[in-house]
Amino acid sequence: MITVNEAFSILEKQHYPERVVEVSLLEAHHHVLAETVFSPMDMPPFRQATMDGFALCLDDALGYKIIGEIKAGDFFEGKLNKGEAVKIFTGALVPNNADAVIQIEKVTVENTTLHFQETISIGTNIRQKASQISKNEIALTVGTFLNSASIGFLAGLGISNVKVFEKPSIGIVVTGNELITIGNELPIGKVFDSNSIMLQTALIEAGFNQSTIYYAKDTFDATQQVLSNAINQNDVVLVSGGISVGDYDFVGKALEKLEVETLFYKVNQKPGKPLFAGKKESKFIFALPGNPAASLTCFYVYVLPVLKKLLCQVAKFGSNQTKAIAHDYSVDNPRAQFLKALITDDKVTILSHQDSAMLNSFAKANSLVYMEEGKYSIKVNEPVKVFCF
Ligand code: AMP
Ligand code: MG
Repeated sequence: MITVNEAFSILEKQHYPERVVEVSLLEAHHHVLAETVFSPMDMPPFRQATMDGFALCLDDALGYKIIGEIKAGDFFEGKLNKGEAVKIFTGALVPNNADAVIQIEKVTVENTTLHFQETISIGTNIRQKASQISKNEIALTVGTFLNSASIGFLAGLGISNVKVFEKPSIGIVVTGNELITIGNELPIGKVFDSNSIMLQTALIEAGFNQSTIYYAKDTFDATQQVLSNAINQNDVVLVSGGISVGDYDFVGKALEKLEVETLFYKVNQKPGKPLFAGKKESKFIFALPGNPAASLTCFYVYVLPVLKKLLCQVAKFGSNQTKAIAHDYSVDNPRAQFLKALITDDKVTILSHQDSAMLNSFAKANSLVYMEEGKYSIKVNEPVKVFCF
């Protein structure tokens, strides 16, 4: 059995292959940019009116002569001379000779003559060409997480495709003869399968929308067959249950038969002692304990950083974040502990119901408190390591 830190350093040392794909902007949403994008154009591409009003060729005149109108999307073909104005709308191209735009609210119009009281300086209400970005300037750098704002920014520059790091496809293999899919009657002795949807939604929360769920009965052949399919069809496989030492836990033996290399098996931690991490070629395989809270804990602490590394995001194992604990706390065993906890007002409270089977406390938690191995108690106000999610 290895320690939590040894498990982290084994994962840290792995090679995380990057795969780059070119996709449409819509598909690029919530991906990480795999290239530095240079602007193909000046933005804005021309001088733009920022207000509805009148573009003026400034003069000392008391009234300006209105000689035309420019709607957004149009341009003025004539020439504007001193003392002349054209009506203009937000976003429209400001004519070359115009010095400023005066807001519609600040003028009065008498037939074709414009009057205003305002002294107006050159450039007022004009957005200069390339004032946001110039052609060939860096728009976004490699590694940028593409949110809606960055997608909009790229679209504004006329970019329709970008290179991103491809997200791994993920298979979730659920083992257990006792499991019943939600929506069905619960026969005596059975329990509802909560891990598949829990892991699937935890993946979605982290931006991995494409996962496939596989079910395996508790026999060696079924487990091996389903695992083999899942490994062949995905880049990462998460297994739920069947990794302990019971007579009907076949995941370990099946992974061995499938020549999955063991990175580690069993970590001195609570919950999640039977955690397995392995690799087959460049594919990562995690076998998570069946107990739901243990499964989710291992997902957040070990699987998520691996997935983020595969996405070329900066991710590290472990946490450097600390919070003061709101109360004394003690445990009765020397294993490292991941304790479901709630951070409020800069203090962290460890919740009741820490059993690895129980999700009721996890459902209220926003963090896990980490107690290193060999530590039995914590005193009120002591800083403790926390994993926030
Ligand atoms: P295992 O790791 O297969 O020995 O399972 C440990 C415990 O977790 C057992 O009580 C199982 O019934 C439970 N369990 C396993 N898989 C699931 C699942 N998908 N959903 C809910 N509970 C599960
Ligand atoms: Mg089982």
